[in-house]
Amino acid sequence: MYTYYIGIGSNLGDREVYLAFAVSELTNTDGVHSVSHSSWIETPPWGPVEQGPFLNGILKVESTLTPLVMLDTILHIERLAGRQREIHWGPRTLDLDIVWIEDEFGHPVRVTEATLVVPHPYFWERQFVLEPLQEVYPTFTYEGVSIDSRLEALRIVEA
Ligand code: ATP
Ligand code: CA
Ligand code: CA
Repeated sequence: MYTYYIGIGSNLGDREVYLAFAVSELTNTDGVHSVSHSSWIETPPWGPVEQGPFLNGILKVESTLTPLVMLDTILHIERLAGRQREIHWGPRTLDLDIVWIEDEFGHPVRVTEATLVVPHPYFWERQFVLEPLQEVYPTFTYEGVSIDSRLEALRIVEA
């Protein structure tokens, strides 16, 4: 059994409906035992493309699916939500990123494949990932740094 922390975001159309759709599709996937999630937070668009604000959160998913199968599953759900892949970092109905994985012993699972890199390469830089992650996983630490102090540092830089 794996515990997946999956970043979720939408900034196109009825954002809340897309997030709820993803939760319900994952909940109904064979091999997925439970899905819980953080609050949804509104965040300004990130990156070089001009676009509307995101609704972001973190899903906590208990599942026997292996990481590459979980990736296929979330990419399929993005397609069901009408996700178009046109502009890199552009607006999207639904974005699901595998941020962090633990095995049944609570040990981090690292993946370096052409199609999947976990931990997600940018997660530790992104407040919109770490804020909801803190809510579902308050004791989270990465390379010896607690999520609380990391968020504090990011907020100081931003201010
Ligand atoms: P970013 O990854 O910087 O948030 P993005 O979410 O906009 O950017 P996408 O266009 O959604 O990027 O994803 C492109 C590809 O990234 C996916 O098809 C997938 O194969 C790959 N990928 C690599 N690592 C991950 C991961 N941890 N979670 C989800 N997709 C990943
Ligand atoms: Ca993303
Ligand atoms: Ca993505």
